[in-house]
Amino acid sequence: MRTSGPVPARSRWFLHDAAERRMDASRYSRLTFVERVDFSEELAVFRLRADTPVDFTPGQYATLGLMNDDRDRPLLRPYSVASAPGETELEFFIERVDDGALTPKLWDLDRGADVWMRNKIVGRFTLDPDRTHHLMAATVTGVGPYVSIIRDQLQKLRAGALDTPDPMLVLHGASRSWELGTYLDELQALSDQVEWFEYVPTVSRPWEDPEWDGEYGRVEDVLRKHLDATSFVPSDSAAYTCGHPKMIDKAQGILQRAGFEEDAIHEEKYFVERNGDG
Ligand SMILES: Cc1cc2nc3c(=O)[nH]c(=O)nc-3n(C[C@H](O)[C@H](O)[C@H](O)COP(=O)(O)OP(=O)(O)OC[C@H]3O[C@@H](n4cnc5c(N)ncnc54)[C@H](O)[C@@H]3O)c2cc1C
Repeated sequence: MRTSGPVPARSRWFLHDAAERRMDASRYSRLTFVERVDFSEELAVFRLRADTPVDFTPGQYATLGLMNDDRDRPLLRPYSVASAPGETELEFFIERVDDGALTPKLWDLDRGADVWMRNKIVGRFTLDPDRTHHLMAATVTGVGPYVSIIRDQLQKLRAGALDTPDPMLVLHGASRSWELGTYLDELQALSDQVEWFEYVPTVSRPWEDPEWDGEYGRVEDVLRKHLDATSFVPSDSAAYTCGHPKMIDKAQGILQRAGFEEDAIHEEKYFVERNGDG
């Protein structure tokens, strides 16, 4: 019998156990919530630990979820993996959607809590093997796949498995600089150190971030400018856009007009806008 009103904590455990018994557990891995590092009230990095190293192709996404009391499987959503493959600790850059079904629950997790992950990490938003230059544009959390790709390139360099990575340019936008998180420092430092990588962070509300002295404007606006400035030749280059659907739609037109071939433009839209979303 289903009852309305809050379920006592002890009963919730029984419900979880029953739901876990009903679900096909062989399709999921149980991860442990290690920590959340906040960049703002709505933006944070989540670190989750697996029992064994997790393999995938950088740029792919994991399907994460929490057990729902009254369902046969976890409540699931896709999240791009920001860590490199082959590690036991997985990193995700996540935005909280206040009226969303899953993200407010992720923010309520206590250290050590279980998070379920579909065994298969999937997706085709990976490095284009047919092009030698890579132009990558992201809104806020959309930088996750690029961070994974870049960390993987660095690991391969250190292991001697790669001579020189292909040139990569990452444009990363947010309303204010602190929303770029720790990726701002990490990618900026790498950009200062190596020839093959350039990072362009941009802030669209500089009046709310008076200390910011970098690029300002939306990603799609600075994309035009940096396309003109870069030495990338469109016929040798792949373009990637990730995150907010509006940026992706605008960037597509700019990239096509700049001469990028249709099959060299890759996108990962994180959500579909509701009517009235700005
Ligand atoms: C391939 C893929 C990879 C993704 N990777 C990430 C990631 O790395 N980090 C991340 O934070 N999200 C990522 N997402 C989005 C994520 O899967 C969820 O959609 C998001 O976290 C909201 O889940 P929710 O259950 O809280 O909200 P829901 O209940 O699913 O969403 C309610 C409504 O909110 C709107 N919405 C969803 N997300 C946003 C948003 N960010 N901003 C404004 N409105 C929104 C949508 O219109 C949606 O219908 C990815 C999505 C896809 C398809």
